[in-house]
Amino acid sequence: MTHINKNSLKKFLLYYIPVHILLYYIVIIFAPDHPGKYFIAGILSITGPLVSTVILFFTVRKKRSAEKVLWGLLFLGTVFYFLGELIWDIYFLKMEQIPLSPNLANIIFSLKPLFYLAAFIFLVSHDLRKTRMAITIVDILIIVMVISSFSWYLLVGPFFTHLNATIPEITILLSYPLLELLILFGIFHARFFVKQAIVSKKSLNIFALSTVTMLISTCIYLFFLIYNLEDLLIYLNPLYTMGMFYISMATLYADNDQLPERMNSRKKDLTQSHFLPLVSIVLLIIIYGIYNRGIDELFIGLIFSFFLLFIRLFILLKENRQLNVLLTNAKQELEEKNKKLEKTIKELEKINEIRSIEARTDFLTGLYNRRYIDSLLHSLIKEANNEHKPFSILLIDIDHFKSVNDRYGHDVGDIVIQKAAQIFLSSVRTTDILGRFGGEEFIIILPNSYLQAGVQLAKRIHQKMEDYSILINEQCINITVSIGVTVWEINDQFNDIYRRVDEALYEAKKTRNTIIVKTKTITNDNEW
Ligand code: GH3
Ligand code: MG
Ligand code: MG
Repeated sequence: MTHINKNSLKKFLLYYIPVHILLYYIVIIFAPDHPGKYFIAGILSITGPLVSTVILFFTVRKKRSAEKVLWGLLFLGTVFYFLGELIWDIYFLKMEQIPLSPNLANIIFSLKPLFYLAAFIFLVSHDLRKTRMAITIVDILIIVMVISSFSWYLLVGPFFTHLNATIPEITILLSYPLLELLILFGIFHARFFVKQAIVSKKSLNIFALSTVTMLISTCIYLFFLIYNLEDLLIYLNPLYTMGMFYISMATLYADNDQLPERMNSRKKDLTQSHFLPLVSIVLLIIIYGIYNRGIDELFIGLIFSFFLLFIRLFILLKENRQLNVLLTNAKQELEEKNKKLEKTIKELEKINEIRSIEARTDFLTGLYNRRYIDSLLHSLIKEANNEHKPFSILLIDIDHFKSVNDRYGHDVGDIVIQKAAQIFLSSVRTTDILGRFGGEEFIIILPNSYLQAGVQLAKRIHQKMEDYSILINEQCINITVSIGVTVWEINDQFNDIYRRVDEALYEAKKTRNTIIVKTKTITNDNEW
């Protein structure tokens, strides 16, 4: 069914249903008593369920998953109603004597409300967890129990004692209004307490209208039966047909444009409170207390209701226990994951630390590398320029190192570099910054110190190197160093200070094994 078809069908049915029902009444009331009258009446009576069946059939075909289940159940219910009506009409037209109830038509008729009830229970509970679903069903059963005992005890029982009806007959007859009442309850619940995305509110309203029509018709039906007014029963038939016609309208209004907005969130619904089943049981107790006639229908109803209440409690307890187990498991899992995470974080921190150490150290000597020294120098210059905190710098180069490599090999050269580094390290204060500048060149920065301190350190190192013989593979290696020294002066920038200390070293290299001091104004080697 396309959209346009659906809309025109809605409009058509809106006008057609009253016309149909009117026509039905005209036939019943005014047509002469003739077999043709009953044939036409029969046709008119099955039109309602037939139209609904067809529309439901197309709806079911279109729907998927949960929606298909709901509309499938409604479709089956409607089909059974249609079949019941058909059999009833055949009885009426073909048989002199209608079979005693409960006959086939009666039984098939009562399948309709059963399927409808199943459909609305499904609608109310399909998006609940299994235990919630079970509780909803138990609640509905409690309410059925209470309504059944009430209606049996107060209304139907006394009336039916006047009738010579058999127990199965009474059961079938009673099941009609009871089931309609329950369906109404289901619709009411789905309409006001469940935010579901399957059926529109408008559709549920029309379903409710249909159910109310059926319920009223059924009550009148029972009334006519009890007071032996069987002749009037025929006037009820158009009402049933009307009720069934409404099903088709409800189906056409199933989809709602606003549906996507109100997907799946549930309002607080009746199943989540213990309100309705408890209230109904309390009511039953009160009524039983008032009449108090020993073991009667009310008493039996009460026993069953209590039994159901116990089942409800049991389900809740079980759910609680399951939830507890789930919670404990989840907690444990979380703790384990937390531990793992902490371990990973610690490992990462370690790796990070190693990385950052590696990033700023020279692998051969373990001293700071040039990149790190550069960054330190930048911040020292900033600090010095802001706070006038001077610092001095030494640039040291091993003399004739190439020949060490050439004579003893590269590996020995490496050891010599390491030994020299140790000597430098043993000569500085802990606050001094010592780094390998590259190759066999080293740098020492003395924070918070004037030129004097730098020169003294240079002298100390120079002397130590002269005195020291490096013993490798039973061979004595004597090395000397050339040292350039400078100090930070006002407005010195990074490049200025580097250029100056480099020039000092260059000067020292001219003679080797010497110290050259260079400031902005003086270059001197011996006066210091
Ligand atoms: P001078 O400084 O007195 O002018 O002479 P030099 O022989 O030291 O000259 P230069 O600075 O040009 O040579 C440095 C040599 O140091 C060159 C290179 O082979 C060697 N060298 C640089 N890095 C390393 C290292 O890590 N290990 C070893 N064994 N040798 C290195
Ligand atoms: Mg060099
Ligand atoms: Mg050198």
